[in-house]
Amino acid sequence: MVPKKKILDILGAYDLKNLTIATVCSHSSLQIFHGARKEGFKTLGIAIGREPKFYGAFPLAKPDKFMVLNSYQEIPDIVEKLKEENAVIIPHGSFVEYLGHKKFEELEIPTFGNRAVLEWESDREKSRQWLESAGIEMPMKFDDPRKIDRPVLVKFYGAKGGKGFFIAKNYEEFMAVNPQERYTIQEYVIGTRYYIHYFYSPIKEEGYKLSKGTLELLGMDRRDEANIDEVYKVGSIERLRELGWRQTFVVTGNVEVVMRESLLPKVLEMGEKVVERSFQLFGGMIGPFCLETIVTDELKIKVFEISARIVAGTNVAVGGSPYSELVEPGMSTGRRIAREIKIAAEKHRLEEIIS
Ligand code: AMP
Repeated sequence: MVPKKKILDILGAYDLKNLTIATVCSHSSLQIFHGARKEGFKTLGIAIGREPKFYGAFPLAKPDKFMVLNSYQEIPDIVEKLKEENAVIIPHGSFVEYLGHKKFEELEIPTFGNRAVLEWESDREKSRQWLESAGIEMPMKFDDPRKIDRPVLVKFYGAKGGKGFFIAKNYEEFMAVNPQERYTIQEYVIGTRYYIHYFYSPIKEEGYKLSKGTLELLGMDRRDEANIDEVYKVGSIERLRELGWRQTFVVTGNVEVVMRESLLPKVLEMGEKVVERSFQLFGGMIGPFCLETIVTDELKIKVFEISARIVAGTNVAVGGSPYSELVEPGMSTGRRIAREIKIAAEKHRLEEIIS
């Protein structure tokens, strides 16, 4: 990973009153640019192929400038140009996925958040180690398919949108698919899904206090997943198979949700534990993160994954969510990131939120 000292040297040469928020034009970029503009920043969109026309439809979220590249792999070649713009990069799912997390770690440009988190987040084994050692309840994992004794979900590594994931209830059903890719087997948790959007600030002191800084709950969404969410229309998963299809979990969109209010103390405690543990493991996770959960009919909250950066589900709350409205009206996650950078720059504390 690029040494912090190098990033601090780059920041040292920046005009801090004239920073630019930059990200790749995809995923949650509209929200990031919209939020950055609201906080008074210049914005820069890194586009692949050509300048995307669709930003024209959203003038309040259109970046001031585009840099157009032929492929994500060219991003390391434009760091000098980005530095000239006093750019701070905001990572999002597509950015890290398409560039590759190793290359992302090496980018010699100030980036919001702690890049050390990537190693822990991108590997399902390491993220389980992190969450379980933080005291978070996760669905049981089966290392040996022969030991499957309950409904499980077989997930593939890096499968975009959960494509190809399948449900089995024993070894025979597992072998009927006989996956050849790298997989992980998780107990299938039946309940309702909540994707919880948190924001951890090491520099804000008022609010839900942690050992250092504060934690905010900015919103929740649920993903719309094709075709599993609409299987009921053909009758059942069996009927789906009879018709010659297999169930898939491809994310096509998101809807905003709220949780029973009585669960909120637990939700905040979970976020707290994950952040506190991250200090011990890799020096702390900074900014937005999401716990992907299933709440059972016994009101247990099980976490099946963590995303340690802005998730696309926050796009449902571009003008604020039922939770962020109670923190500050009109505060989206994209805007909150920009606010954090603004405050840190004013207080000369950027080194605490940038890597
Ligand atoms: P993931 O790639 O881990 O985000 O999983 C994709 C989708 O599979 C999720 O959005 C859920 O709908 C579903 N899913 C993942 N893990 C589980 C689980 N342990 N039990 C039930 N459903 C799950």
